[in-house]
Amino acid sequence: MEISEIQVNGYEKVVRCRDEESGLHALIAVHDTTLGPALGGMRMLPYASEDEALFDVLRLAKGMTYKSAVAETGLGGGKSVIIGDPKTKSKALFHAMGRFIDSVKGRYITAEDMNIGIADLEIVAETTKHVTGLSRDKGSSGNPSPYTARGCLVGLRATLEEAFGSPSFKGRRFLIQGVGAVGGRLAEMLKEEGAEVIICDINDARVAEFSKKFGFKAVPDATHLDVECDVYSPCARGATLNDQTLPKLKCKAIGGAANNQLREPYHADRLKERGILYAPDYVINAGGIVNVSIELLPGGYDEKKSLAKVDRVYDNLKRVYQIAKAEKISTRAAAEKLAEERLAAGKKAKAGVRA
Ligand code: NAD
Repeated sequence: MEISEIQVNGYEKVVRCRDEESGLHALIAVHDTTLGPALGGMRMLPYASEDEALFDVLRLAKGMTYKSAVAETGLGGGKSVIIGDPKTKSKALFHAMGRFIDSVKGRYITAEDMNIGIADLEIVAETTKHVTGLSRDKGSSGNPSPYTARGCLVGLRATLEEAFGSPSFKGRRFLIQGVGAVGGRLAEMLKEEGAEVIICDINDARVAEFSKKFGFKAVPDATHLDVECDVYSPCARGATLNDQTLPKLKCKAIGGAANNQLREPYHADRLKERGILYAPDYVINAGGIVNVSIELLPGGYDEKKSLAKVDRVYDNLKRVYQIAKAEKISTRAAAEKLAEERLAAGKKAKAGVRA
């Protein structure tokens, strides 16, 4: 196994692994460990080149630093990518990946991400202990999705308060794109709160299941933005807020689980100009990482502690909205400010301990 460093400005450690025996070609990026070890998922994709994979892992690792800083998980930001077709997964590949993760000596802790499931992580865990998000019966925190959904719900409460002056969900119309693990649970909880829920999903079976079970009205994905609603909740995929979709939006607020909803940072400014309140994705969807972070506490995983902390997504969003209003900046910029403030406070506290 050959492990080599890649020097990248602004990143604590970036490493590449090539292992002929297992065929592993992977990268780990540790962006910042000021607030704790860098936790972030592992994804496997057939990237066209190592440069493309590097671009992805760097962007994602930095995003994790900001997400964890705002959520106060006590963790830093990192990410790993395996370059390859998920069809070529093997035991040897994941064992090698575990050894690669182990070489970073706990500065990077891994979890699930695109094309990587618990079964894969269980193999990785045979060669490194720096793995989170395994099943509950192994003392781990299990599936993060219900916690992400709960974080979204409390975050939407803060969003309603800000946009409509009342935290009540009753009679408010929500349009959810993607009723998967997170969006599906969120839809259910919104209904319990008395909201009107309209769904869309490219998976017809999922739409049929939810419409039958909860009586939700469904709209085709192609025309879902024609629906007038109070809140639009993107829970499917990234970059859905872009030049094409922004002019079509007929909502007063946006808040959902999908990562990287804004195609470009300036789309947050366009939303502000249109008077649409945007709940920054990494603030509102932090419930999952919060849940995972609890398993790293000295006493191990404790659901009560997790739920109490997930509910702080509400306070974090309130703070973001306060900053945005006071400084007349977009909510995206306000979230970044809050993350940087918390990172700076962590750096100061660390320096104080050393002095
Ligand atoms: P999922 O795969 O379970 O659900 C996604 C759903 O979106 C699926 O039902 C899929 O059919 C649907 N979908 C895909 N493309 C679509 C489109 N163009 N239009 C309509 N529907 C579409 O995934 P998930 O775990 O629910 O995650 C949803 C989003 O939230 C992802 O962007 C994920 O990165 C993000 N996220 C998830 C978690 C978590 O805990 N699972 C945490 C943070 C962020």
